[in-house]
Amino acid sequence: MINRREFLQSTSAIGVSCILPQIPVPPAANFQLIQTETLTSWSVTDPVEWSLQNADQPILARAADRLGKLTKEDDQRIVRLVVRRCGLNLVEIKSNQVTVHYWSDQLADLRPFFKSSGLASPDVQVTLVNRKTEATAHKTGDEFRFGKRVAQDFPMEQFTSKWLNRFLVKSDDHQAVPGSNSGFAWDGLEDGEIPWAAMKSAWRRMQPIICLNCDQPNILVNFGLPRVSFFRHAPRFISVCPTCQRSFLDDPITDVGGWMEANLDEDVRPRFEID
Ligand SMILES: [Zn+2]
Repeated sequence: MINRREFLQSTSAIGVSCILPQIPVPPAANFQLIQTETLTSWSVTDPVEWSLQNADQPILARAADRLGKLTKEDDQRIVRLVVRRCGLNLVEIKSNQVTVHYWSDQLADLRPFFKSSGLASPDVQVTLVNRKTEATAHKTGDEFRFGKRVAQDFPMEQFTSKWLNRFLVKSDDHQAVPGSNSGFAWDGLEDGEIPWAAMKSAWRRMQPIICLNCDQPNILVNFGLPRVSFFRHAPRFISVCPTCQRSFLDDPITDVGGWMEANLDEDVRPRFEID
C-alpha cells in the first residue's frame, strides 16, 4: 500500500520531470572521406586534424607540401586543398542533413555510399558544395538511388498484381503488356507488343534481376530486340523495382533468341521478328 507522503513524492517527481525542459543534444557530426575513383570511404573524427596528421601518407601526397605550412586554424583552406588535390570528397552527416564537399567535376558516384549508409531516402537533405566556386546544390537522398525513377503514371500496381499471379493463367493474359516494345510480333497484338502470357513465362523461368537499391527481385517489364534507331535494333531488358520505384536497363543480353528459348514456354514465343 502506498502512503500519502510517498504518493506526493512520486507525483512531484513526475511533475518535475515534466517541467524540466528536454534539451536536445545536438547530434555529433560524422565525417566521411570518399576516394572519387575507387569509392573507398572511411570515417574521420575531424577532417582537418586528420589531414594534418596524415600529410605524409600517399593518399595526401599531392597536398603534402601545402599541408606542411598550414595549421588547424586554416580549416577551410585545408578542406579545399584536400578535395582539390587528392581526389577526395568530404561528407558531413548530421542527423538527416548531409553536406558533400567536392572540387569542380570531381564529385564521386555517391550512390554506393548513400546505400550502405542508409541515406538514399527522400527525408535526407543533401547539400553539394563545389569548393572551387562555392556553389551549392540541394537534393534529397533518394536522388542518389540507382536506376531511373519510373514515370508517375507507370502502372506499377498492374505489374505487381500480374507478377503475383505469374503461376496462374488468367483470361486477359493474351492482352499486351503496357508500354512493351520487343521488336517481335505475336498473333493478335500490335507489332512489338508482348502478351502477358509471355511475360509471365519469363517471370517464372528467368534468373531474377536484383534491385541495386533494395536487393530484392525486380519485375521485368520489357524484353527483346526493338529498333532503337533507324539503323539499329538493340536488346532492351528493362526491369522495375516496386519498392523503390526505379527502373533499370539491364546489361544487354546479346543472344536474345537464346534468352527467349530458355525463358519463354514454347506456346508463348513470338511468331515474327520485326525488321
Ligand atoms: Zn528497389
